[in-house]
Amino acid sequence: MDYRHVVEQVMSTTAPHIGEGAVADYIPGLAEVDPKQFGFAVATVDGQVYTGGDVDVPFAIESISKAFALALVLSRKDTDIWQRVRREPSGLAFNDVIELQLENGIPRNPYINPGAIVVADQLLADTGDAVKALRDLLRAESGNPALEIDSVIAESELRTGDRNRAIAYLMASFGNMRNSVDLALDHYFRQCSFSITCAELAKAGLLIARHGLRADGSRLLERDDARHITALMTMCGTYDGAGDYAYRIGLPVKSGVGGGLLAVVPDTCSIAAWGPGLDDKGNSVSGAVALEAFVRAGGFSVF
Ligand code: GLU
Repeated sequence: MDYRHVVEQVMSTTAPHIGEGAVADYIPGLAEVDPKQFGFAVATVDGQVYTGGDVDVPFAIESISKAFALALVLSRKDTDIWQRVRREPSGLAFNDVIELQLENGIPRNPYINPGAIVVADQLLADTGDAVKALRDLLRAESGNPALEIDSVIAESELRTGDRNRAIAYLMASFGNMRNSVDLALDHYFRQCSFSITCAELAKAGLLIARHGLRADGSRLLERDDARHITALMTMCGTYDGAGDYAYRIGLPVKSGVGGGLLAVVPDTCSIAAWGPGLDDKGNSVSGAVALEAFVRAGGFSVF
C-alpha cells in the first residue's frame, strides 16, 4: 500500500471542506478553537507514520478517551461493567437523559456520556485514580511522555457540565454510581481534556488495531476484549451518526467533540483525523470526508 499517495489523496479531497461545521460551543474552551485547521495521520502496525496538514497541533481528545478508558476497565477482567452499561446503539444524542430515565439508569453503551461516566466511575473504583491510569496509557501508546490535560478545557468542562451532572445524579438515584458524583465527574471531565495531536492519537490507536498489544509488545487486552472495543466503535462510536459512518466509511470509528476521529483497520493501521467543525451529531465534518476518502483510496472498509 502506497500510504504516502493515499494521504495526498485524502488531503486534496478534504481541502474544500476544511472549516465546515460548527465548533462545540457548549464547552467554552472548545468554542475558541480556530475551525480552519485540519490534520490527518496514519500509523501502521509495522511502525510507519504518514501525515498531512496540522498534524502537530494538539486538540482535546474528548470522547475518543472513552475507548481507551474502556480498554483499561476491560483489561482488569472487570466483567461486572456489563451489569452497569449495555452494548447497544442509542439512536439519541450523546448527552441524552430521557432514555437513561426510561431504562432505569443503565446506559445503552460505554461511548455515550452516561456510559462513559459509568466507565470512568468504575476505573476510579478499580484504580483509585482513573486520570492517572489513562494518562499513563496514553503517554506510553502515543509516544509522548509529556502528554497532559489542557487545564483551560478541563476547567471549562467542569464549569459548564450541568448536563453531565444531571446524568450522573440520575444514575446515582438508580444505584449505578460507585463513587460520589462530584469525584467521578472530576475524573470524567479531566479524561476528556487530554491534549493530543493527530500523530500521537494515530499511534495510540494502534493498541486497538493490534488487538490489545501495547507499543512495548506486552498485552493489555485479551484479543476478544479488543474486538469488543472495535465492535462498539462501529455501532456506537459516532453516536446517532453511526449508521451513516458504517455506510460511508465502514470502519470502527470513535469521535470526540474536539473534532477528532480515531478509526482503525484491524491488523493494518490506525487513523486519526482532526477538524474542529462538527455536524449536528457532534462528529467532525472534515474528518468524515477525510476518512471516506481514505477508505476509497486504499480500499480499507471492513464491509
Ligand atoms: N466532554 C464532552 C461532554 O461530556 C464529551 C462529548 C463528546 O466528545 O462527544 O459533553
